[in-house]
Amino acid sequence: MTKLDKPVFNRLALIGAGLIGGSIARAARAQGAAASIVATARSAASRKRIAELGFADQVLESNAAAVEGADIVIVCIPVGACGPVAEEIGPHLMKGAIVSDVGSVKGSVLKDMAPHLPDHVHFIPAHPVAGTENSGPDSGFAELFVNRWCILTPPPNADQAAVDKLRAFWTAIGANVETMSAEHHDLVLGITSHLPHLIAYTIVGTAEELSNVTRSEVLKFSAGGFRDFTRIAASDPTMWRDVFLANKDAVLEMLGRFNEDLSSLTRAMRSGDGQALYDHFARTRAIRRGIVEIGQDSAVPDFGRTHPSLPAEPLPRPYAADTE
Ligand code: NAP
Repeated sequence: MTKLDKPVFNRLALIGAGLIGGSIARAARAQGAAASIVATARSAASRKRIAELGFADQVLESNAAAVEGADIVIVCIPVGACGPVAEEIGPHLMKGAIVSDVGSVKGSVLKDMAPHLPDHVHFIPAHPVAGTENSGPDSGFAELFVNRWCILTPPPNADQAAVDKLRAFWTAIGANVETMSAEHHDLVLGITSHLPHLIAYTIVGTAEELSNVTRSEVLKFSAGGFRDFTRIAASDPTMWRDVFLANKDAVLEMLGRFNEDLSSLTRAMRSGDGQALYDHFARTRAIRRGIVEIGQDSAVPDFGRTHPSLPAEPLPRPYAADTE
């Protein structure tokens, strides 16, 4: 990625600067995508930390003051808080400003924010499909969006020049950009992100409640597969509460399909139908290969984890295996 000669935006206002807002700020500064950056956070502790980290030129308490004079405003807070924040900033937005967000659900954000925004701004919701299980201003990093997708969900009457400008911004900070409707986004992310998180939260909770397997055994033998669910299930509880409430319909639809497929695998197992199990697992393995082929993950075993206590040379196959 080469640094831009001329910034895409003059003043970038980030409402909320945790993992996503903090990463946008760091990346925008590194790439020269915004001439100046102002950030807000809800708590005094976070604002103090943002100022110490220095990834914004200005840190303000007031969201309304932060958006004054900003030609781009990106709301980077839990989706359930987007409506009240839109109401707060609406009267202070500059004419012609682009207002966007990063929420993991798009239908609810559109519904909650749009009524509070004046006609003289361009509202273009967005969702960078990139993240980690960490949150807060310290967790962000400039490379988070590199080679990840950012989905824009402009309403049908959106101004094309504004959409193109937002696309240019996300491209400048490393993302690949795709456009789709909010409804379609929520369906796609329902299966690729929201349902997997629900399953991870469930399975980790189930293990926690077992009485005939001890907690220390669960932790000790977690490399059998459980450990990889725990990373997802460590994601921010507020953010994910809001996602499931906001994308209830799509997640329930995907959950219905999941339950049907689970029942058919259960039936195959109960009846000893090894062929059905094998065929299913062979199909799913191909999905993993596809993700690696399009560069959305690494082919390195164990998700690229390094094991500093092990010898640098790979161990012979049976010992290298980490999953059951
Ligand atoms: P985060 O690290 O917890 O940061 C959230 C920020 O919003 C913090 O600055 C926080 O301030 C502020 N905030 C929280 N509640 C607020 C409220 N009620 N009103 C105003 N500000 C509030 O969260 P994040 O991971 O960046 O997530 C932000 C958004 O990005 C969410 O909508 C999420 O769906 C979306 N997203 C997340 C990921 C991911 O992997 N995490 C990926 C893509 C999109 P304090 O620190 O003072 O509380």
